[in-house]
Formats: sequence, C-alpha cells, structure tokens
Amino acid sequence: MFDLFHSKHERRSVTDLPPLRLCNSETRTVEEFTPRKPDEVTMYSCGPTVYDYAHIGNLRAYVTADVLKRILAYNGYHVRHTMNFTDFGHLTSDADAGEDKIMKGLRREGMDISLAAMRTLSDRYIDAFKDDAATLNILPPTEYTRASDFVKEQINLIQTLSEKGYTYETSDGVYFDISRFPSYGRLGNIDIHAQDDGARVEVNPEKRHPADFAVWKKGDLGWDSIWGKGFPGWHIECSAMAMATLGKQIDIHTGGVDNAPTHHNAEIAQSESATGKQFVHYWIHSEHLNIDGAKIAKSEGNSLFLRDLLTQGFSGADYRYWLLTSHYRTKVDFSLDALTGAKQALYRLKRFMYEECTDSSGIIDDTYRQDFIEAINDDCDTPRAIALIWDLMKDSDVAAKNKRATIFEMDSVLGIGLGLSPKDGAAALGLVDSADIPADVQELLEAREDARAAQSWDEADRLRDALQEKGYTVEDTSEGPKLTQQ
Ligand code: AMP
Ligand code: ZN
Repeated sequence: MFDLFHSKHERRSVTDLPPLRLCNSETRTVEEFTPRKPDEVTMYSCGPTVYDYAHIGNLRAYVTADVLKRILAYNGYHVRHTMNFTDFGHLTSDADAGEDKIMKGLRREGMDISLAAMRTLSDRYIDAFKDDAATLNILPPTEYTRASDFVKEQINLIQTLSEKGYTYETSDGVYFDISRFPSYGRLGNIDIHAQDDGARVEVNPEKRHPADFAVWKKGDLGWDSIWGKGFPGWHIECSAMAMATLGKQIDIHTGGVDNAPTHHNAEIAQSESATGKQFVHYWIHSEHLNIDGAKIAKSEGNSLFLRDLLTQGFSGADYRYWLLTSHYRTKVDFSLDALTGAKQALYRLKRFMYEECTDSSGIIDDTYRQDFIEAINDDCDTPRAIALIWDLMKDSDVAAKNKRATIFEMDSVLGIGLGLSPKDGAAALGLVDSADIPADVQELLEAREDARAAQSWDEADRLRDALQEKGYTVEDTSEGPKLTQQ
C-alpha cells in the first residue's frame, strides 16, 4: 500500500496546500489548524473500554481519528498519536455512579473479581479491538497505552492536584473541586451553576458540588496510595497518559460526542489545574451512530459488532466506505440496506480500478488532486472526497492510467482499498486474467459463447452452472464474457 507516513512520492509542501481547517468543539468554529511545532502534531484519542467487543458505533470514533491522522500526514505533518485502553475504573455512568464496566465484564464471563482477572479479560478485548482496527484499515497509533500500566503517573497527577489544593477527600474517595476551576464546562458551554444545590438529586452527599468528580475511588480492590487502597477515577487516566506520552500540551484530542460534557471537561480541569497551561488546542468529536433509528444499547438488543457484519459477507472496507460517505459531525443511521448499497458502490469502484486502470505509469491529475485537498482540508469532508472519486471515474477527459495514479493517492487518505497494485487488486476481487484461465474452464466458456450465439439459452445456462461448479462466475459485458473466481 501507498505509505503515507514514510512516503517517497512527490508531495507539495505544506505551504502550497489550502490550509487544513478543523471544527474545534471548544470554540464551536471551524479554525485553521496550526500545530505547536511546525512539522509535528501530537494527537490523543480516547480509546475503548475493553470489557466487551467494540460495537460498530464505537468503531466510528476510531475511523474518524484514523482519517484525521491520515489527513495530517497527507498535509506533511509527522503525527505522534496515543490511544488508550481503559482497563479499569470506567463506571457505567460517565460520572461517578454505577458499576465498573470491567467488573461487569468479569461477572458476565463468570471470572474472579481480581486485578489479575481484570488483566486477562482486558487482554482478550484488546486483541479483539486490534483485530477490528486492522479489518477497518485503521493505522495503529504511535503508542497504545493501557490505564493499568500508568497507575503511578495517575497517582502522581492526583497528588499534584491535592498539593495545589484542587481536591478534597471524602469517605469514599478524592474529588476534584470544580469551584477551584472557574472555566469548568468550557466544552459544550455547560453552565454548572444550573446544577447547583437542589437542581438534581445528588447521590453522594459528601460531594460539595454535583459536578465535582472522583480522581480516586477508595475500595478493597486496586492499588495502594496515600488515600488508602483503591483506583484512580476514569477521567484522570487520559490526562496522565496524554501527558506521559505526548507532553503537557497537545495539539488534538479526539473522542465521541458523548465524551465531551463529562469526561473531556474533567480532563481539561485536571490537566490545566496541574500544569497551569492549556491542555488541548483542538477538540475533535465524532458524532454518534444509531441503528435503524435507535440508539445503540445492549438493553435495546441492537449492539452490532464488526464480526457480525463480516459473517454476513461484508468487509471492513465496505463498512469504512459507508462511514466515510457521511461527515464525521453528522449523526448517521446504520441499516443493512445502507451497507449493502455501500458494498455495491465500493465494488464498482474497485472493478473500475483493477479492471480498467491497470497501467500504473500514470501521473496524478492536478485538478482533481486540488479539489480533493480542498475537500479533506475542509474539516475532513470525506463525503465530498468520495464524490470526487466518482466524478473522476466518469471523466472521459482523464486517461485511465492518470485516474489510477490520482485515486491511488486519494486512497492513502481514505483507506478504502483502492490503493492495491493492479495484480493484487484484481486478485482481491477474484477477477480472472484471460491468460490465467485453465484449459477446461476456457472450453466451457467457449462452448457457452457458441450456445449463446446459437440462441440455445438452456444450454448456455447449463454451461454457466458448470462454470459455477468449478468456482467461476461468468458475467456478460460489452467486451465479452468476464470471469470472477470465488
Ligand atoms: P467506550 O468503549 O464506552 O469508552 O466508548 C468508546 C468510544 O465510542 C467513545 O469515544 C464513545 O464516545 C464512542 N461511542 C459510544 N457510543 C457510540 C455510538 N453509538 N456512535 C458513535 N460513537 C459511539
Ligand atoms: Zn479519555
């Protein structure tokens, strides 16, 4: 595949491109992107809670982060990217209520409740996540960080916050005192005063403000600390791991929209209180996915996993292609019909690439490249980028070999499987080169052509079935019969 991150191909310099603009959820405006260092971008993505398979909605957030990362690389930046695995401490409510999701996983699978068992369970779902990511052609981050490997860093951060007077201790934990951080709720412009006393039923009377959040939870299970045994609150892990791997200030932080109000506002408060510096410059949030109009929820019985789609004959590229036909900031509604449409469309694009654009000596068409850059640099407008591929495919003024070169480069950003060599692409689609047809198959094919010429349709159908039995599907095109192999 075209290697974006170690590419030797000619690339325009960053200054020639229309600048990359991103919608920053903090300012709620589309802003020109300027990293802290001229050529390097630091990016942190909230990763999965590894107590179960990631459902297809969760996976959307990671495809969004992947495309953004590829766009940054395409713009000439070196990207240092961290994604975490939450392997303890994420409660079923994003705030401080509910059951730890990993414990829930342990109970579901009849396992012990112990740190060792938590590790074993998480290992399983980390592997499953990496498989899903590979199936979706998601490039691995520079570093995957696992929360339980960074407990020391989390404890140190909580200690810094305590020493600076940002926390208070209760009988069940240590809480961040949001009254010490006046801009709390910056993401989404949340008015925390609307939540003052009596505004909602408070579950923990020891909390000074309903929006104060736990940075340490006391308990029988966990790690030792000066506050006793327990574990860090969920939010602190992302602040600690982002700072440990990328530094005190990072360029981009990604996550799903549901992360913004609680988890990301908490990350901002903790990080900025500890360092006195702005934590994140650009917050990027990926919208949700519903299934047949309903929110994905286990209780609805509609959690759909990538493996379910694969079992039904779809590929990771089909799902990725379908996702990219919507902008990451719009809600999407998944249905098998919609995915089937995407699969058929992608198949047509692939056939076109691997059947009609087999000459790899072409050059990139500058006009289409420019339009493509304008689309992706306009807050990652992938639907427009995909529409351009279709326009290019149909454009009779562009030579097939140049279409190939241009689409090949576009695919380095979109990652939908159009960037294979003609031979590998044809093989992936099962397209059979006429030179490779075995003699017995060729005989059947010719006999079928004779039968068709003689209008002996029954005989032609019988020969089609005979070809099918040998594993070949015949398709009649304007250029004669074409074979694909299953
Ligand atoms: P979790 O594993 O629960 O921590 O969630 C992983 C990611 O998936 C987070 O970034 C969520 O914001 C995101 N997410 C959860 N539900 C959906 C959904 N229905 N559609 C899109 N993203 C989602
Ligand atoms: Zn996070």
